[in-house]
Amino acid sequence: VIAAATVRPHVVVVGAGFGGLNAVKALAGATVDITVIDRRNFHLFQPLLYQVATATLSPGDIAHPIRSILRGQRNLREIRLGAVSAIDTIEQTVGLEDGTVVDYDYLIVAVGATHNYFGHDDWAPDAPGLKSIEDALDIRRRIVETLEATEREGGSPPPFVVVGAGPTGVELAGAIADTVRHDVTAEYRRSTPASARIVLVDRAPRILPSLSARSSTAAADQLTDLGVEIRLGTGVADVRPGHVVLDDGTDIPAALVIWAAGIAASPLARHLPAELDPVGRVRVGPDLSLPADRRVFVVGDVASIGDTPAVAPAAIQQGRHAALQIRRDLAGAPRTSFRYRDRGSLATIGRGRAVADLGGIGLRGRGAWVLWLVVHLAALVGFRNRVSVLTSWLWDLATKVRRPVRLITGPPRWDRVRTPATEPAPPNPADPTAEHPDRRPR
Ligand SMILES: Cc1cc2nc3c(=O)[nH]c(=O)nc-3n(C[C@H](O)[C@H](O)[C@H](O)COP(=O)(O)OP(=O)(O)OC[C@H]3O[C@@H](n4cnc5c(N)ncnc54)[C@H](O)[C@@H]3O)c2cc1C
Repeated sequence: VIAAATVRPHVVVVGAGFGGLNAVKALAGATVDITVIDRRNFHLFQPLLYQVATATLSPGDIAHPIRSILRGQRNLREIRLGAVSAIDTIEQTVGLEDGTVVDYDYLIVAVGATHNYFGHDDWAPDAPGLKSIEDALDIRRRIVETLEATEREGGSPPPFVVVGAGPTGVELAGAIADTVRHDVTAEYRRSTPASARIVLVDRAPRILPSLSARSSTAAADQLTDLGVEIRLGTGVADVRPGHVVLDDGTDIPAALVIWAAGIAASPLARHLPAELDPVGRVRVGPDLSLPADRRVFVVGDVASIGDTPAVAPAAIQQGRHAALQIRRDLAGAPRTSFRYRDRGSLATIGRGRAVADLGGIGLRGRGAWVLWLVVHLAALVGFRNRVSVLTSWLWDLATKVRRPVRLITGPPRWDRVRTPATEPAPPNPADPTAEHPDRRPR
């Protein structure tokens, strides 16, 4: 009995994103041993990914090694680099893709979400989403390659289309407009990037539906100022190489289509003995544990509880709440219910402008952008990253010249890129031999 009482429960945290990392930190000093498992060795600050995709920030500005973040945590037993592919709640184990198995007493699942093509996963190669550093670098490469390809022939670049007018889509469209229509214009001689069409498409009747109608209108005005064309009330009917077809029949010959239209929970959710919501998120109990298993918590984008949104503050609060429940168990105290504290919503629109809803107060323009800047800097992990990002933004604002991270990385292929103007007629999608630049061997 004495031996059992001195054994420290083993808490396994899968995913070191916002939810997982905050759970681990909130367990600092608790009488537990913690193992963190993540398939990446770094924590990624996804809210600024769009700035990597549009060549303002470098990947290292928004990513931080997990080992470095947690180096001072004494009850951390291990950080394991690997992808979890199985969870056995009877045996209380998680299985990794490399075949290893890790036992747990408590499990916190914080594996986040992925893109949702709503049944059209075949569109993914031609309409990439933005979720990882690799996605961001791929989009950056496609943008810069399009500018280079257009320069060879002169004229205007083909349209850039962003599907989904939530915060990610709005921020992306604004930043692409800034980069393509404003920042690079003096650098190209034969082509006219300033005349590029940036089209933002959404089935909804207004952009930024999670913000107030006034903020939505203000954001739409700011986007229009930047030269973004907003197409509302129409979804996407088809995506083919170099083309996007809208529900209303419009066929846009696009240089790049970016998918920012929705998220689906990580497929790992399906390994848990719980009900899933329509986008695959795990329906958790009020304390964030599984209704069928109190030892398993699910937090962040992969968890479904009431109308809590899939945003970073919710994941952070849930990670901390799960940690608190484990502490309460150890102290013999009853569990408590999670309540999301919504401190407001922000979205930036291009350089130096934003909209913000804070309770009943709406902010627009420069004031909202300063608030956005402070909130994002405070949330960014790592002092060096904060200094680097702040320097980039202030430099941008002061000089109106973005720090040019317009690098084409990866194996050379820009000379093979074609603009839709030179692209042959779109291949028949039924033809498996149909050629597309992005499907050619690299
Ligand atoms: C482009 C973009 C912009 C966004 N902008 C904003 C914003 O402005 N404001 C805001 O509040 N929110 C924003 N979000 C949403 C926010 O980033 C998420 O809500 C938040 O990251 C969710 O945290 P999480 O811990 O649930 O998941 P994540 O932060 O996604 O972390 C999941 C972790 O789990 C790891 N993982 C996944 N699967 C496995 C596996 N099988 N095995 C091991 N490890 C695994 C991943 O590597 C990752 O480290 C944005 C998201 C994106 C993609």
